[in-house]
This record gives sequence, C-alpha cells and structure tokens, in this order.
Amino acid sequence: MSISLDLEKFEFDGVPKQRPLMMAGPCSAETEQQVMETARQLKAKGIHIYRAGIWKPRTRPNTFEGVGKEGLPWLRKVKEELGMLTATEVANVSHVFEALKYGVDILWLGARTTANPFAVQEIADALNGVDIPVLIKNPVNPDVELWIGAFERINQAGIKKLAAIHRGFSTYGKSFYRNDPQWQLPIELKRRIPQLTILTDPSHICGDRDLLFEISQKAMDLNFDGLIIESHITPDKALSDAAQQITPDALELMLKKLVLRKADINSAVIMHSLEELRHQIDKFDDKLIDILEQRMKIAERIGKYKKKNNITILQSSRWDELLHQRISSAEKKGLSEDFIIKVFRAIHQESINHQTKVMNE
Ligand code: PEP
Ligand code: MN
Repeated sequence: MSISLDLEKFEFDGVPKQRPLMMAGPCSAETEQQVMETARQLKAKGIHIYRAGIWKPRTRPNTFEGVGKEGLPWLRKVKEELGMLTATEVANVSHVFEALKYGVDILWLGARTTANPFAVQEIADALNGVDIPVLIKNPVNPDVELWIGAFERINQAGIKKLAAIHRGFSTYGKSFYRNDPQWQLPIELKRRIPQLTILTDPSHICGDRDLLFEISQKAMDLNFDGLIIESHITPDKALSDAAQQITPDALELMLKKLVLRKADINSAVIMHSLEELRHQIDKFDDKLIDILEQRMKIAERIGKYKKKNNITILQSSRWDELLHQRISSAEKKGLSEDFIIKVFRAIHQESINHQTKVMNE
C-alpha cells in the first residue's frame, strides 16, 4: 500500500538543528525536586528537550505506575523556569487532555500503544485540530506496517510534526538486549518514509546503562537523526527502569565520546545494506541452530534405540563413512575439508553427549 503522509520537519526554534537531535530526562517524573533538578542539570549540558513519563505502562501491577497528573505542573515549571520543551507519553484520551491542559510541548505514543490501532485512533481523534508534535515509538512487536499505520492515523488528524522512536522489540526468553534492536525495521521505515525523522531510544533497547554508548554510536553510524535517553539525578534510586538510567554527567560524557561520521548518503546506504545482510546472516544462524537441535533429538532417539538393543554408542565405521561423505558433498559447495572436519567433529561430539545422556537415564 502506498503511504501518503503530509509531514513537516521535526525541528524547533531554539533547538540546534544538529545531529543527534537530543531528548533526555527521567523514565518517570517522581517528585518535583527530582524533575526540576534533573532538568536543571540536563539544561546545563545543552539538552533542550526534556522527557518524563507521567503515566507509566508497567508490565506488572503493584509497581510504580507514574505520579499521574500531579506531575504535570512540574513539567510546566520546567518549561517556564528553564525554557526547555517538555515531552511525555500519552496512552489514552484523558492523558491527551491533561497533557494539553498543562502545556506539554511534545507527546509520544508508547510501544504498547502503537501496537493497538484502537488506542492510536482514539488518541488521533482526541488530537484532531491540535497543533502539537507527536513521536511514535515502534510497536512492541516487529511490524513495520503497524508502525506506519500509527503515523497515518495521527497524520490524518492533522498532525504534521511527526517523528519515530526506535526502542527495540520484545522477544521471548533470554536476550542480550532488553528489547532487541532489529535495526532492519527502522531502516525499512526510513526507506518507506524517507522524510521522517527517526530517533533511537538506546535506554529501552539496552535496559542496561553500560550498553548505551554502543547502541547510540550505532544509531549515529546508521545515520538516524537523534537520541532519546533516560537520565535521572540518582539513577539507582529511580522508581522505574533504574538499571538503564544515567546521570546528566554520564550522559554528557557519553555524548562527547560519540563519533559523528560524515552523514553522507553513500555511507548510510552502505551501512543499511550491511545491516540487511547481517539480518540475513542472523536468520541463517537461527535456522542452523534449529537444524542442530533437530539433529540432536534424532541422536537421542538413536541413543534410546541403542540402549534398548544393548549396542555401544560409538561405531567407528559409521563415523568414518559419514565424515568422508560430508567432506565430499561440502567440497562441491566450496567448503574446505579442514572446516568441514572441524564442524562435524564438534557436531559428532555433541551427538555423542546427547546419546550418552539418554543412555544413562
Ligand atoms: C518510556 O519511554 O519510558 C517507555 C515506557 O517506553 P516504551 O513505550 O518504549 O516501553
Ligand atoms: Mn523507561
């Protein structure tokens, strides 16, 4: 489906038009003192756009779900006293009305909201005719169409200052990042909507402050436009997302370390193509692991069979024959003998381990 969006540049008077466009502030507004002091320190570091969650979408109940509208006057104070632009997440119509009432400058849709077209549509209807910039986080699931759909809904309500936030994607089970970056999705979004500003949210991708630099640098190397980073005066005491927040001082240090390579189209195109190729490699590796798992299951069945019939695990003639056969078919595919021997020795050893396991059960 073709996309027709009527967009304006995502830039603001008084905010330097440079890369990275920066937004920073605490995951959650907690107290007036924490909001004001974090803002003061960030302002002193040259941050112009201040983020703070007022309503927090928490995975489990009985955790801190944000201070609610009590925190809105604090954001208004940040705006009035420090001249920063303020931004907060809205997830329903009443959030929209409250945020507008207190003069919040920029709204964002959270990842869970973007995943729900009913919620996005209700917010779009509430915003109809209002002139306010809106940021849209990627949906929690890796679905570019759903992300684009949210832009269309909000844009159809007349909002032209739109930008995307890439915050990574949920996965089941253990993973290195809190939310897997899957860079190919924001890359595809950029391909489909080239004029769209895209910010990266290293905080929610990483879930761990030690990884922020690496993801921020990668976002810059991929030529994305900006960063939104969670910053708190006492991160370890934060009421939400403590492990991923950094002090304004640490943020400044990290930003200074970033290497901003020339944003030339060619290097961005090269990086994007590289990313796409890496994505293909990831997929093949996943398949390889699935195949190895299936192979080991068969080895276990063989083990059971051998146990039942009282046969030894290792039958050297079979192993020898197998290896020769594998070497010769791999050679036809341009894979060296040395490599195939190493790979199959390792596979064979793992197979024996699986067989032994079931024989000892
Ligand atoms: C946040 O920005 O604090 C937040 C809740 O983000 P997300 O919607 O990306 O989980
Ligand atoms: Mn957060």
